[in-house]
Amino acid sequence: MSAAPAARLDALSLGFRERFLSYDELTRQVRAWADAFPELCRVTSIGRTPEERELWLLTLGSDPDRPRPSAWLDGNMHAGELCGSSVALAVAEDILRLHLRQDGEAASPASSALAAARLRDVRFYILPRMSPDGAEAVLASGRYVRSVPRDERPARAHAYWRCDDVDGDGLALSMRIRDAGGEMVESAEFPGLLLPRTVDDAAPYYKVYPEGVIENFDGNNVPTPHFLSDNQTDLNRNFPFFWAPDSKQEGAGAFPLSEIESRAVVEFATQHPEIFLWLNLHTFGGVFIRPLGDQPDTKMNQEDLALYRQLGAWAEELTGYPMVSGCEEFLYEPDTPLHGDLTDYAYHQRGAIAYAVELWDLFKQVGFERKKRFVDNYVQLTRADMLRLAAWDRDKNAGRVIRPWRRFAHPQLGEVEVGGIDPRVGLWNPPPEEMPRICATQAAHYLRVAALAPAVALDAVETAALSPELTRLTVTVANHGYLPTYILASAKALTHNEALWADARCSGCELADPDLAHREIGHLDGWGRGLFDGSGALYYALTRGTTGTRTVSWVVRGRGVVSLRVGSCRVGWTTRDVTVA
Ligand SMILES: [Zn+2]
Repeated sequence: MSAAPAARLDALSLGFRERFLSYDELTRQVRAWADAFPELCRVTSIGRTPEERELWLLTLGSDPDRPRPSAWLDGNMHAGELCGSSVALAVAEDILRLHLRQDGEAASPASSALAAARLRDVRFYILPRMSPDGAEAVLASGRYVRSVPRDERPARAHAYWRCDDVDGDGLALSMRIRDAGGEMVESAEFPGLLLPRTVDDAAPYYKVYPEGVIENFDGNNVPTPHFLSDNQTDLNRNFPFFWAPDSKQEGAGAFPLSEIESRAVVEFATQHPEIFLWLNLHTFGGVFIRPLGDQPDTKMNQEDLALYRQLGAWAEELTGYPMVSGCEEFLYEPDTPLHGDLTDYAYHQRGAIAYAVELWDLFKQVGFERKKRFVDNYVQLTRADMLRLAAWDRDKNAGRVIRPWRRFAHPQLGEVEVGGIDPRVGLWNPPPEEMPRICATQAAHYLRVAALAPAVALDAVETAALSPELTRLTVTVANHGYLPTYILASAKALTHNEALWADARCSGCELADPDLAHREIGHLDGWGRGLFDGSGALYYALTRGTTGTRTVSWVVRGRGVVSLRVGSCRVGWTTRDVTVA
């Protein structure tokens, strides 16, 4: 293939590596790829949102209907985390480029020709924007939405905040009101920046609320803002594994999969047992978060842990982000695991190598020392740290975050000021200048992991005459991939993690023993062992035996064609017709 298709691919980009696409632009982007490269790219909708937007899913790779090991990627399940959509599209574009380039040519400097060849046989499912309704609300006004901009809770008699653009400037940010009991003061160095008040600070002091109105306001008592006061469900608490109601888990939703978005994802995953890899994109922080979410590494399957250790080493090398245990470094409250989150579902219930990434390493860019537990980076910010952040915003982020305050006569609260923090670009998401690098490094890491896919092949098919009537047909089935055919050691018991089967169907001839037409041949190991699993030690460097191949044979009577089919729902099926002459 000439360079022309790759150049065509570049020409189709709507610029998602430098900016955030609206829903209409995202729709045009995925359709443009599907129209230009129908043999490599298919666009389907796995659901339609209440605001009538489609949940676009890209299926990438040649021969998209052939079942085979498949890798999943989703972005933007949280409304404000728009960078996830951009990274998802960048990965899709890199996969297309990989197919459009010459055989043997590497896809990127980080990917060898060997890895590229493996990746050309993997099927990819990419959902760039799980919450298009939420993303559109954030893009339009900057109002806070956790996942989806709707609320169906019947308990609505109490006073609560509803975010809105009250002053009509197109943005819904925050409001401050002078108050002798206020918890915040304005920075002397950075006008507009509010800081937590200390005992030495002089007035004025401020109360800070979302820009919006108070529903059921009694005229006196202002309700304390809550991030879910006008939007009910956090999609990442709505998945069915280890789900708990919202009395126990904020944002849980009315019941597991109560939302069309989470429901569509789970229905698709259930129909696709061949998904072996699941990356769930978030912002921000600059960290990969892996299982376990509820127990320390000592309780984790140690073969799984060795595999994740390898992924973590590549994460540091290719992206500069650490990979941490959800339980050990990412619990917001001590000993309080999250309920109903997506990667727990993908890991425990689907048996996929699942993890999340918080894109955009703001803390590192500002120059903060990494805290011992990663989650502490988000909360342990001193006043000096806040000032460094403000300086970074002014010098490196064109002042996009800290916005001026403007006076406004609020219909319920009287004299207020509107403005404050616009977190969209610089906090929740990287500035455009940082995005190309993030897209490139994340794609490199994801594709390296996807290249670990199991690869079952019929290596050798031999026939030997036993008598004028009888022929022995011998087949060697091998897994050439890194991963075993069961993917994760912890997932062996899942019902969709079936062992391999070998079928022999005759036409013209017949099997001497018809009972052997459908035979279980068990799972096959891959050649990978993760990192530091204890094997290959300096002082005892030996390998496994023949655990990655299996040889089976049938005796065939007469002349004809034997159709062989080997595989499982987990790794797909490999077929070959053998003529017995
Ligand atoms: Zn998130």
